[in-house]
Amino acid sequence: MDKKYLIGNWKMYKTIQEATSFMQHLLPQLEAIDRSSFTLFIAPAFVHLPAIGALLNGSTFMQLGAQNCHHEPEGAFTGEVSAAMLADIGVGGVLIGHSERRIYQKEDHRLLAKKVKRVLEKGMQPFLCCGESLEDRRNGRHKAVVQQQIQESLDGIKEIEKVAIAYEPVWAIGTGEVACLEVIEAMHSFIKEILWHQYGSKNVPILYGGSCNPQNAKAIFNCPNVAGGLIGGASLRVDDFIKIVTALLEQKDGTNCN
Ligand code: PEP
Repeated sequence: MDKKYLIGNWKMYKTIQEATSFMQHLLPQLEAIDRSSFTLFIAPAFVHLPAIGALLNGSTFMQLGAQNCHHEPEGAFTGEVSAAMLADIGVGGVLIGHSERRIYQKEDHRLLAKKVKRVLEKGMQPFLCCGESLEDRRNGRHKAVVQQQIQESLDGIKEIEKVAIAYEPVWAIGTGEVACLEVIEAMHSFIKEILWHQYGSKNVPILYGGSCNPQNAKAIFNCPNVAGGLIGGASLRVDDFIKIVTALLEQKDGTNCN
């Protein structure tokens, strides 16, 4: 069976008390879950990583995720956090190129390719985010944009099967406007083709992100080639997050097919 992934991206939300209380409510509810084909990540703000890591207590089922890292191994970069520092405290996966960082921090493909490399060098899994803007889609450029994002951000990457992709149309992030199933299916199969033609691999997981919630999660996860989800807003509420975890568990076998 293919591996499934779910990542909760907390962005710049939650105090340490809120983060701790969330985990204390969540963890007991995950006890009953079949963990064999499933990896869950929670990506809090950097400052909360050690405290959340202590609560996870080395679990391989639920792992620490980071929302970003710097592209250089170390150096005089005030305010930044390196991949080595994240690996040191037990982070297992790192979001790279989230659209909020591409937009507000002006991160470009060349920089993102370096970040992917750093994360892999330290034995963590990069989750490379890609996705078109509303304008790109209206102009019919969505495929070209996503293709360029993937090709340039993975330029020179050899360990392609250690990477995961998160397709997140920018117009669906935090807007409540989820992409329709046809859009998700078409883009996931297009990304699969790119990875096959460029890297000769059919084994790179492709997650969907963008206004995924307990109501729409099941239908999204049952689309072909959807290996899980990157969840923003709904990952801030324990009950919603658990319902999304359950929806992924109930994904029909063979959905994430080659
Ligand atoms: C995200 O931040 O990656 C995301 C998908 O957010 P939301 O679920 O709130 O749209």
